[in-house]
Amino acid sequence: MRYLLLSDVHGNRHALEAVLAAAPPASFDRVLVLGDLVGYGADPNAVVDRVRALDPFIVIRGNHDKVACGLEPPDEFNQIARQAVLWTLKTLTDENREYLRALPAGPCAVGERAQVCHGSPVHEDEYIFDGADAAAAFGHLERPVCFFGHTHIPVVFVRSRQRLEAQVPSGEETTVLHLEPETLYLVNPGSVGQPRDGDARAAFAVFDDGTGEVALRRVPYPVEQAQEAIRTAGLPAVLANRLAAGR
Ligand code: ZN
Repeated sequence: MRYLLLSDVHGNRHALEAVLAAAPPASFDRVLVLGDLVGYGADPNAVVDRVRALDPFIVIRGNHDKVACGLEPPDEFNQIARQAVLWTLKTLTDENREYLRALPAGPCAVGERAQVCHGSPVHEDEYIFDGADAAAAFGHLERPVCFFGHTHIPVVFVRSRQRLEAQVPSGEETTVLHLEPETLYLVNPGSVGQPRDGDARAAFAVFDDGTGEVALRRVPYPVEQAQEAIRTAGLPAVLANRLAAGR
């Protein structure tokens, strides 16, 4: 089974469309969404509609989704994220707000080999940035491979009997990871709609649980159009500016 992995789309329909053009329906069997469909970007309804039309196998919620549908107050959000998420709460249709409200918290198992979560397998709002965070998370895996998001930074943490290491994708259009037996993996495909690794291109992944390959991919998208939409919506300018820097 080939899984298309989408994380942290954050209301950026231009980035999502570019990803779906680069990964046409014939290139995967099922869609997995790792949370944060909305927040920051100017097109939350278009993104939720498009994700729903994909009929994903699993969609889990992210921290922005929870606030954007009114499940939680934005207490943990900085001022800019808060402004954007409250705008999103107001802008979402009733139907899309209900859709977000019904999303499960991770982690969720995906067959025998993999699981998905938003932040970490310990808690959906927790961040996995470095080896210490990963070491703690590895103790909670229920499958050999755990896909996560939340940091918006593509990375692969590998734990074999000998060591724990972090692998950063090459920056090529596609970086292929071959899963080894008796090894655990924490894989962040990166963010579709708001990359933060200094690369403005949208990030996503395709996981083939038959071959044990994970393709980590980057695709350019019309950043200026997403920026224009953010400005037109009256959202903070910094949210438009950061898209060009991938920060
Ligand atoms: Zn996010």
